[in-house]
Amino acid sequence: MILAASISGCESGGKDADNPLLAAYNTPFEVPPFDKIKDEHFKPAFDEAFKQHNVEIAAIIQNEEEPTFENTILALEKSGKLLSKVSTVFGNLNSAHTNDALKALAVELAPISSAHRDNIGLNDTLFNRIKTVWENRDDLGLNAEQYKLLEDTYKGFERGGANLNEEDKARLREINSQLSVATITFGQNLLEETNAYQLVVENEEDLAGLPAGLVATAANVAKASGQEGKWIFTLQNPSIMPFLQYADNRDLRRQIWEAYQNRGNNGNDKDNNEVLVTIANLRLEKANLLGYPTHAHFVLEEAMAENPDNVYKLLNDLWKPAIAKAKVEAYDIKKEIEASGESFEPAPYDWRYYTEKIRQKRYAIDENELKPYFSLASVTQGAFDVANKLFGLTFTRLDNVPTYHEEVEVYEVFDNDGSHLGLLYADFFPRASKRGGAWMTSYKRQQTIDGKRVAPIISIVCNFTPPVGDQPALITFDEANTLFHEFGHALHGLLSNVTYESQAGTAVSRDFVELPSQIMENWAADSEVLKMYAKHHETGEAIPDELITKLENAGTFDQGFATVEYLAASFLDMDFHTQTAKITQSASDFEKVSMDKIGLIEEIIPRYRSTYFNHIFAGGYSSGYYSYIWAEVLDSDAFAAFKETSLFDQATAESFRKNILERGGTEKPSVLYHNFRGKDPNPVHLMNKRGLN
Ligand SMILES: [Zn+2]
Repeated sequence: MILAASISGCESGGKDADNPLLAAYNTPFEVPPFDKIKDEHFKPAFDEAFKQHNVEIAAIIQNEEEPTFENTILALEKSGKLLSKVSTVFGNLNSAHTNDALKALAVELAPISSAHRDNIGLNDTLFNRIKTVWENRDDLGLNAEQYKLLEDTYKGFERGGANLNEEDKARLREINSQLSVATITFGQNLLEETNAYQLVVENEEDLAGLPAGLVATAANVAKASGQEGKWIFTLQNPSIMPFLQYADNRDLRRQIWEAYQNRGNNGNDKDNNEVLVTIANLRLEKANLLGYPTHAHFVLEEAMAENPDNVYKLLNDLWKPAIAKAKVEAYDIKKEIEASGESFEPAPYDWRYYTEKIRQKRYAIDENELKPYFSLASVTQGAFDVANKLFGLTFTRLDNVPTYHEEVEVYEVFDNDGSHLGLLYADFFPRASKRGGAWMTSYKRQQTIDGKRVAPIISIVCNFTPPVGDQPALITFDEANTLFHEFGHALHGLLSNVTYESQAGTAVSRDFVELPSQIMENWAADSEVLKMYAKHHETGEAIPDELITKLENAGTFDQGFATVEYLAASFLDMDFHTQTAKITQSASDFEKVSMDKIGLIEEIIPRYRSTYFNHIFAGGYSSGYYSYIWAEVLDSDAFAAFKETSLFDQATAESFRKNILERGGTEKPSVLYHNFRGKDPNPVHLMNKRGLN
C-alpha cells in the first residue's frame, strides 16, 4: 500500500482534500463519488477513521459527568460515523467489484478492525458507564426506541465479552482476530476456485440440448478470453445451472458438476477444508468463553428461534415429508432414464437434466418458452409496480449519479406523497470481480437527525443471465423470484422510519429479515401479477393464460428436491455449530456423518457443501441458514393476510408497512409480527405452498 505512510503526516482532523473518502461527498444525494475513489484511498481513510473513532470513544470515557443515556448510549450510537462511511464503500466494492489490491487490503484490515472493535467492546470504564445507565433504566423516562437501544447496547457489550476476566478477554481478542482472517480467507478462496475453472467445449455436437442463449453467451466468454470459435461454460450459476439442466452430453455434465461441488476441496493452496474446521472450532471456544454450550446457542439467543432445539424441530418436521417427496422424484428420474433406453443409476448431475425432461412431458412446459416473457427490464418494472400498488412508491432512473461499474443502474425512489424516500442501486450481472449469489446492502442507512429523516441509499447485487448480442437480458423465472426477493430487502431498507441508525431497516435477526424479502416472491409468482409484468420482449404481449396455468400446475413440481437440498445445508450448518467438543475429523468426514444421519439420498447433495458454504463460513448466516424456511412460515402466513382480503389490499399493505417495514429493529420480531397479523403465524400455509402435506 503505497500511501499507507502518508496519513501520519496529516494534521489532526485529517481532512485530506485529496482523499474523496475523507471529504464530504459533493455528489447528487451525497452518494459515494465512485468516479473519484481509488484503491489507494482506502488504507489512509481507514487509518483516519479508526483514529477519529478512538477520539470519540475517549471523550465518552473521560466525561466527568455521571453516565446518562445521552452522554453514553447516544454518544456511542453517534460515534464511528466516518468508519462506517469508509467501511460500507469498501465492503460493498470488495463484494461486488473486487481486485487484487482490495482483496489484499481486506486481509490486512481484518485483524486491525477486529482489534479496534475489541478495544472498544472490552473497555472496562466504558462498559461500567453503560452498566450504570442500564441499571437505572426504569428511572430514565426512556421511550420504546431509546429503551431498546439501551438494551441492545448493554447486551451487545455483554455478548462481546465485557464481563470476562482479563485472561479470558485476552484469549477472546486472539480468537476474534483469527476468525476475522479465516472467514475472509474462506470467501477469497471460494471466489478464486469459482473463477479458476472453465469447461471449454470445442466440438459443436457437445452443445446438443443447450438453449441458444446459453450457447451464445458461452461463445462470447470464449471470444473474450481469446478462444474464438470455442464455447466456455463457468461455475457461475447462470452458466452451470442451465448446462446441467439441458446438456445431453452426460460426461460433460459430470465434469462441470465435479468441478462445482469440489470448490475449495482440491488440495491446493485455495483449499477450505482446514480453514472451515478452524472457524467452527474457534467459534465453539468463543461461545464457551462467553458461557454458552455451543456457537448456535450463542447466535440463536438473539434470533426469533431462540435456541437450537426450536430450529432442529422445524427442520425435522419438514425433513420427513420433503425426503419422502424427493424419493418419489428420484424414482421418476430412474424411470425416465430407463425410458430413454439407458441403464445407469441417477447421479446428482443427472437430476436437473431428467427433471427438465419430465417437466416438459408432464406439464408441457419448457423454460425456454417462458424466457421471452421475463426480460430483466419487465421483471424490474414488475417489482416497481407491485411496490407502487402496495405502498404508492414510484421509481425514476437517474443518469447523473456516479457508479462503480457501467452496468450499475440507479433509481430515485419517491414515497406516496411524492417526497424523496431514498436511492436504489441495482447491479445485475455476474463477473469475475463479483462474488456469487444475490444480496442487498446499503451505502447509507435511514435515521432521523434533529427531527429530519435521513434518506437511505440501498443497493441490490445479483448474478443474473446476461444479455446476448442486441437482445435484452432474458432471465429465468427463478431469477425473477430472486429479483423480487432482493427488492423486498431493499424496501425494508428504503421504508425504514426509525430514529437510530443501528435500528434501521434490516437490523433484525436473520430469521426475521427474510420475511420482507420472501413475501415479495409470492407476488412475483401470482397469476394476476404475472399478467402485469411478464410481457414478451418483442411483442409486448402479456404472458398467455395457458403458460400461467402450466406454471401453476408445475408449482410444486421438484419441490422435494428443492426442499431437501436446502434442508440438508441447514442441518449441516446446525451440526457444525452445535458441537460441544472441537471437531477433530476432516471437514468431508464431518459432512458425511451429518448427511448420513438425516438419510440424505445419493442423488442429491446439500445446496452448499462445506468447502463452499459461503453463507456460514464467510457471510453472516452461521447457525442461521435455517432462517429462510423459518421466515417462509412467516411470509406464507403474511401473504395469506392479503389473499384473505385482496392481493393489494390497502389496509393490509399499510399495516405491513407501519408494523414491520418501517420499524426495523426497534422492537422484538415476534411482537412486530403479532402487531401486523394479530396472531401467531400458521405453518400450514408453507406446507401447502411446497406441496408437502
Ligand atoms: Zn434474503
